[in-house]
Amino acid sequence: MNIDWKNLPFGYMKTDYNVRTYFRDGKWGSLEVSSSERIDVHIAATSLHYGQEAFEGMKAFKGKDGKIRLFRWEENAKRMQMSARGILMQEVPTEVFRKAIYKVIRMNERFIPPYGSGASLYIRPLLFGSGPQVGVKPADEYLFMVFVTPVGPYFKEGFKPVKMLLTKEFDRAAPLGTGRFKVGGNYAASLTSMKKAHEMGFANVLYLDSKEKKYIDECGPANFFGIKNNTYITPKSDSILPSITNMSLITLAEEMGLKTERRLVEEGELASFEEVGACGTAAVISPIGKIVDETGKEFFYGDEPGTISTKLYNRLLAIQTGDAADPFGWVEIVE
Ligand SMILES: *Cc1c(COP(=O)(O)O)cnc(C)c1O
Repeated sequence: MNIDWKNLPFGYMKTDYNVRTYFRDGKWGSLEVSSSERIDVHIAATSLHYGQEAFEGMKAFKGKDGKIRLFRWEENAKRMQMSARGILMQEVPTEVFRKAIYKVIRMNERFIPPYGSGASLYIRPLLFGSGPQVGVKPADEYLFMVFVTPVGPYFKEGFKPVKMLLTKEFDRAAPLGTGRFKVGGNYAASLTSMKKAHEMGFANVLYLDSKEKKYIDECGPANFFGIKNNTYITPKSDSILPSITNMSLITLAEEMGLKTERRLVEEGELASFEEVGACGTAAVISPIGKIVDETGKEFFYGDEPGTISTKLYNRLLAIQTGDAADPFGWVEIVE
């Protein structure tokens, strides 16, 4: 097998195996290994009809020492449990989650991109209601599965600022809704706004809070942050997904001597930031060069990534890949 590691897209590639386990009759079953990319789903499964589905995303890296590194996977396990509670699915116990990701990584070792390629192994855990219901109620049966796929770096042309469309025409989640859970329904709800942004030449949309249309909320499928006066600021909102990348950047910003704030960020404050960006597992940081609203009003931050964003990006990536020591206990070696 010859994979062109340096030119991998950020997309799906078939690997050798995936793993799955069912919650049936009140308990989780044994972990099954499959080489099929297909699953057999009941026509009345609640996931298909009523959106009982949640997922996670994380990456494994091969270090200079040839060891495989996983970044803060327990946080992903916890978050999937929170998502499960949020839409009344069975929670996947942390130990089941750990066994599944370890197994699928080890069984697909030949798909882990080599050190220095810029690529990584993307890990996608998925949990959904697989049991039938016709009335609206939670399923009695759940399927938890994990597949992996090697992915190239998010930015093929390097770490470059993107443009965001600040929208007042769309919401992704309601204030007391499911925005803080990593559920497929939020993504379905974001597709029209994302399509509009793409058609207009933007990387994605920046949402405002859906109640007052006054405060910065989620940034496409990522969290938003701004930097000014030596302070890292990220919006506080019940409809924002708690990003593990953002949480880690806050720690790294503090390590670098910045102050950090998680608070309401008014739209008008955008003009005062020195650097802004979006953060998440896929890209770590997408620096934002320009934000434009639907009336054409522009906020400009620069054609090059800001110095603090660049430092944060390099620092987090170095810890993830093992290039730098991990003083926080975030990285686990997959033995
Ligand atoms: C996954 C996700 C993020 C980023 O979370 P990470 O843990 O940093 O990958 C941000 N916003 C939304 C809506 C997400 O689904």
